Amino acid sequence: MAFLFFYVLITTNLKKQLDDRLSQKISEFEAIYNLQGLDEVKEAALIESRAAGEKKIFFRLLYASGVAFSSSNMSYWRAIGINRKAVRQLMTSRSRVYETLSIPGRDDRVRIAYGVIGHKIVVQLGYSMETDIAFVAIFKRIFFVTMSALIITAVLVGWFMARRAVSGVEAVTRTARQISESDLGRRVPIMARHEEIDRLAVTFNQMLDRIEKLVVGIREMGDNIAHDLKSPVARIRGMAELSLSGEAGVSDELISLAGNTIEECDRLLDMINTMLMISKTDAGAGDLNLEMVNIAQVARGAVKLFSPLAEDKGLTLSCDTPEALMVEGDLKMLQRAMANLFDNAIKYTPPPGHVDVRVFREPGNKQQINIAVKDSGIGIDNQDLSKIFNRFFRCDQSRTAGGSGLGLSLARAIARAHHGEIHVVSSKGKGSVFTVSLPDHHVH
Ligand code: ADP
Repeated sequence: MAFLFFYVLITTNLKKQLDDRLSQKISEFEAIYNLQGLDEVKEAALIESRAAGEKKIFFRLLYASGVAFSSSNMSYWRAIGINRKAVRQLMTSRSRVYETLSIPGRDDRVRIAYGVIGHKIVVQLGYSMETDIAFVAIFKRIFFVTMSALIITAVLVGWFMARRAVSGVEAVTRTARQISESDLGRRVPIMARHEEIDRLAVTFNQMLDRIEKLVVGIREMGDNIAHDLKSPVARIRGMAELSLSGEAGVSDELISLAGNTIEECDRLLDMINTMLMISKTDAGAGDLNLEMVNIAQVARGAVKLFSPLAEDKGLTLSCDTPEALMVEGDLKMLQRAMANLFDNAIKYTPPPGHVDVRVFREPGNKQQINIAVKDSGIGIDNQDLSKIFNRFFRCDQSRTAGGSGLGLSLARAIARAHHGEIHVVSSKGKGSVFTVSLPDHHVH
């Protein structure tokens, strides 16, 4: 806009200057004509055109009819005729009439002024606009060069600034995404750029600190409660046991009461122990009893173990594993995780159905070994899928089946302690696939 404004300003100004010059010359001729006569005018005009250059200036003297009776050397200006309309107009107004003509075949233009200098005598005066045109051309060139540089710089700077701004936001977003329950330790990297985004990152990190403290606090509280419950429950169980082993004469009712109490106590103790184990496993892999484990064999063992249970329920259990696939891990823990998956698959599959186990190297990712437990059971609601690994979460439809809602949390804690992960794919009414992926020991 600014350039356009300057362009218009410059071109109108140049034209006005030129017009003023032409007008002033005509006034001079008029004065000469009045004081010294027509011949002097002719002389003055010739001198003028020769002094400035015949390609720069020309003049014609005309009668009121528009017929020329004298002129400078017009060989260069042959193409320029006489504008009779302008002459006629002059006869009535007596001021100046201007026009701009382009000369065919040349990219030069000429500014022409008509003026009356005496009784029925008109002068046609032409000035080449060559210098003005050259000046405007330079202006245009500067404009394009500057504009191109400006646009390129603006694009680069804009791109750079946007990237800088967005990269900060991206770092915060990435960290936010990575922060899962057991990875609250992550923080957004702070660059010392003192920009808003860094202040946001600092605030975000402070918030994470507070959340982490809270979560750790809650976890510790849960663990403490579980821990503190352990001994009273064990004592209750002991007492119930004592009453069973007591002298004869205890009524059957009391015996079954004591039996139930022991059973419930065992369930409670099991839950407490599982909770404590999840916390311990979550806390890190330090406590793992690492050895080389043939995970294919573990799967086959589990299948053997669970076959009777599956058969009783009217389910078929199949197993597809290679001879050996080694991972580095804690055998007992891995067995436990797998048992939980088998247990669920059998529990949540109504007969007649089947449970298939597959142990395989991930195609396309040779560094990963998968254990997939697939059932043809009731499946899991989409909205519950993200929650089933939470402690104590149980889907509504499975409340009737026995369980505590801790099995999958333990399985996930175990998988993560082994630098692995557990995933589920499920469609309601059709069945689910739980896949534990563990890193190949060759790589780790
Ligand atoms: P639970 O002791 O209730 O089995 P889990 O932590 O093992 O607890 O599982 C949590 C919930 O996930 C279960 O209550 C059940 O609703 C759902 N679930 C787990 N495995 C399956 C499965 N194979 N098919 C359908 N639902 C399942």
